[in-house]
Amino acid sequence: MSLNGIYDSENIFAQILRGDMPCVKLYEDEHTLAFLDVFPQSKGHTLVIPKNAQARNLLDIGESALAPLMHTVQRLTRAVNTALTPDGIVVTQFNGASAGQTVFHLHVHIIPRYESETLSVHAGGSMADIDELNALSAKIKAAL
Ligand code: 5GP
Repeated sequence: MSLNGIYDSENIFAQILRGDMPCVKLYEDEHTLAFLDVFPQSKGHTLVIPKNAQARNLLDIGESALAPLMHTVQRLTRAVNTALTPDGIVVTQFNGASAGQTVFHLHVHIIPRYESETLSVHAGGSMADIDELNALSAKIKAAL
């Protein structure tokens, strides 16, 4: 059911886009916003979202909004790599609750992997320390 439905403009990422909820911003342009996940699965877990598309998931978004989204995903993946030197980086995206999606505004996860560390649980871990997120943000922004 959650795979096909109506976009809910009260979802948390829509609130962030409106400035009604805070985020630790990494990058913003005309089409996209990138910020740190507040329940990160690893240090530097980044989310990239489209700004102008009311898209719940990948099925909803038009080509003209998808291209700049993926451009920003690559740009942030490179910055995360340079800034945090992880051993690997997972770039992923979920469509529908049955696939693991919990926020219904299209987003792409950039999840650095460190060989010595296990991943925290998806969308269910503890909230990150804000000072730590700000420090990570400064590093990633410097690498953009
Ligand atoms: P999904 O489960 O939809 O693929 O991913 C949603 C992501 O949003 C999860 O990784 C979750 O930790 C993150 N998230 C949920 N609420 C907030 C929030 O208020 N702020 C930020 N920055 N991330 C959030």
